[in-house]
Amino acid sequence: MKPNTPISELSFVGPKNEKRLKNIGIQNLRDLLFYFPRTYEDFSNPTPILKAQENERNVFKARVLSIKVRRTPRKKMFITEAIIDDSTGALSVVWFNQLFIANQLKEGFVANFIGTVKRGPKGLVLSSPTFEIVSRNDDENISKKDKIHSERIVPIYRESYSMTSRNLRFLIWSNLKNIKEIKDFLPEEIRKKHRFVSLKQALFEIHFPKNFRNLEKSKKRLAFDELFIIRMYLERRRLLREKKDKSYKISFNENLVKSFVKNLPFKLTEDQKKTAWQIIKDIEKPYPMERLLEGDVGSGKTIVAAIASLSVIYAGFQVAIMAPTEVLARQHFNQLSKDLINIDVDLALLVGSDAMISQKKKNSPKKIKKSLLLEKIKEGKIGLVIGTHALIQKNVFFKNLAFVVIDEQHRFGVEQRATLLNMGSGFKNQEKDFNPIQNSKFKIQNSTNLSYPHLLTMSATPIPRTLSLVFYGDLKISQIQKMPIGRKKIMTQVILPKERPLIYEFIRKEVAKGRQVFIICPLIEESEKLQVRAVEKEFERLSQETFSDLKLSLLHGRMKSSEKKQVMEDFQSKKTDILVSTPVIEVGIDIPNASIMMIEGAERFGLAQLHQLRGRVGRGPHQSYCFLLTDVPNKNNLSRLNLITHIENGFKLAEKDLQMRGPGDFIGYRQSGLPDLVMASLSDIELIKIAKEEAEKILEKDPNLEKYPLLQKKIKLLEEKIHLE
Ligand code: ADP
Ligand code: MG
Repeated sequence: MKPNTPISELSFVGPKNEKRLKNIGIQNLRDLLFYFPRTYEDFSNPTPILKAQENERNVFKARVLSIKVRRTPRKKMFITEAIIDDSTGALSVVWFNQLFIANQLKEGFVANFIGTVKRGPKGLVLSSPTFEIVSRNDDENISKKDKIHSERIVPIYRESYSMTSRNLRFLIWSNLKNIKEIKDFLPEEIRKKHRFVSLKQALFEIHFPKNFRNLEKSKKRLAFDELFIIRMYLERRRLLREKKDKSYKISFNENLVKSFVKNLPFKLTEDQKKTAWQIIKDIEKPYPMERLLEGDVGSGKTIVAAIASLSVIYAGFQVAIMAPTEVLARQHFNQLSKDLINIDVDLALLVGSDAMISQKKKNSPKKIKKSLLLEKIKEGKIGLVIGTHALIQKNVFFKNLAFVVIDEQHRFGVEQRATLLNMGSGFKNQEKDFNPIQNSKFKIQNSTNLSYPHLLTMSATPIPRTLSLVFYGDLKISQIQKMPIGRKKIMTQVILPKERPLIYEFIRKEVAKGRQVFIICPLIEESEKLQVRAVEKEFERLSQETFSDLKLSLLHGRMKSSEKKQVMEDFQSKKTDILVSTPVIEVGIDIPNASIMMIEGAERFGLAQLHQLRGRVGRGPHQSYCFLLTDVPNKNNLSRLNLITHIENGFKLAEKDLQMRGPGDFIGYRQSGLPDLVMASLSDIELIKIAKEEAEKILEKDPNLEKYPLLQKKIKLLEEKIHLE
């Protein structure tokens, strides 16, 4: 069986299971085998009931003698009560309010139970245990000796759409055990040197480990694979660049920059000058820059990018600025059309739903047909193109793109980011679309007729060194540490539910003074649909009850871009007082008149995220406020949230976040697009180092991986996937 065998051809996958598997994104054998457990329960050594340990976690394997549900006397609560029995004794079990249990667990079933045993008035009780059914009458699928649901370390999978953990376990087992050979792409010398287990063993034991030591070994091997492949990819990319090693030499246009800076309505901060200078120096050189500009929300990164772009445009080349959302792209476009009004340049906006152009010395930007704009970009007539990922679609060609700026780069997924880097490397989207990797059948070869744009990425989220090593190689980093002067401190406060009315009163007063307000709904990561429903409900409540006399508007990710645009414009032009929104506005928008940021369900956000949201206010002359509402006022939560009330520095908050919530939450699991396993391994600096060194070593002696056909195939697939996006 091949890894890409479709699931419909696998054992025990009929139409029903096929549908369920597809619902969770499993299309083929490989997907199934790489659907790793969320956690494990150790059922390998059940305790005899006779020897139950009081106040300890126990595992029992026992038969259900009876099970029933009753209501407490005051009928406030449902209690499920069971008696279980192994050959050594019987034990009472209770669950509170978990009505579904009596539907799953029936008399006569044998199950493993894990939970704490307590002494009650009538003797020992096992309280709210989790359980795994070992056998029931209709359960003949599993032969006795396989024992996949009990008497071992049992994998627990993420459940969804009628696909239970138990069913997945069964399907994975049934298909895994028939696999005779799994070809291992990892070169043997690396495997031996670092004592990695084979791919076959790793895959087997990540699901069904013999013991916890073996489980760790499997995890390590599989995490290494991911890190190693990413590194190989980046390393090959670097080699390609070094072979071609050419970029546009942009000489510093001193007069132009000076007069531009002089006409700005503010004075640049020292950090802005310093970072702009670093970039200007880099792009004077004949090889491509790769630099990351880090600076807190509101520290003024955009203008630094604009200054660096000036000389490029004036030298007759093109610049692309790419933002993660349409709202943000539009804002950059509007801002830059104003900033560059006296500069002899045509700039354009290109997003999924719209295209606009702003021409030299003509005051207001106007709409343009997309096909016409694409034509102009191709002819090199547009000096500065601002957009979303619409910029990296296949139909976009630049004549001479010399400088690429990626804003809020951490918001792009891993693969998208790689595409961006490639666009920056001139593999693609140049007029003569030449992709050395694809055209040469994987060979890295010398070619001198290609120039690569300089690349600047910008982020308000400082990226820990380990993460950047994995994703970006060795980027150069510029930092804006200090904020422009005159920024007022944003008063930040944690608010409990009972204090909500006070905040509403306060909001009313501020609106009466002419200020505007953001109200952000709790983050719901599980589903965008739920998120939208929640924000709609809150909007209805606020606009019909609490603030029925004020003008409110609603913003969420499922709205059409034209609607979103309208909402943002109305808010910007003060037609509305309060913007009720999902956390989509987190990224970069600039509305100086807004002075209150109220965040519901603050406990669900990371500190760095809250800080970004807070940065939406305090951008104008008014005293601004940020209220963090939490319905979960426990100690941990409150002390975590309180950090943000007195720490203003985003870099520090990000560090705290990293310490308290780990790298997964830090960059946002869903955004990172990384498997859990890799996320977990990001704290394993040693493993990251090994991956980097081994990738370098292999490519040094065999850049085209001719001696490693399996590895070659794997990297090629990744490269193709990234280039096709
Ligand atoms: P971010 O770094 O979050 O992207 P922006 O570039 O959007 O920040 O800048 C935030 C605001 O600060 C903008 O309105 C910008 O015009 C303004 N700004 C930038 N630099 C300065 C400065 N040196 N002094 C005062 N205001 C500035
Ligand atoms: Mg910004």
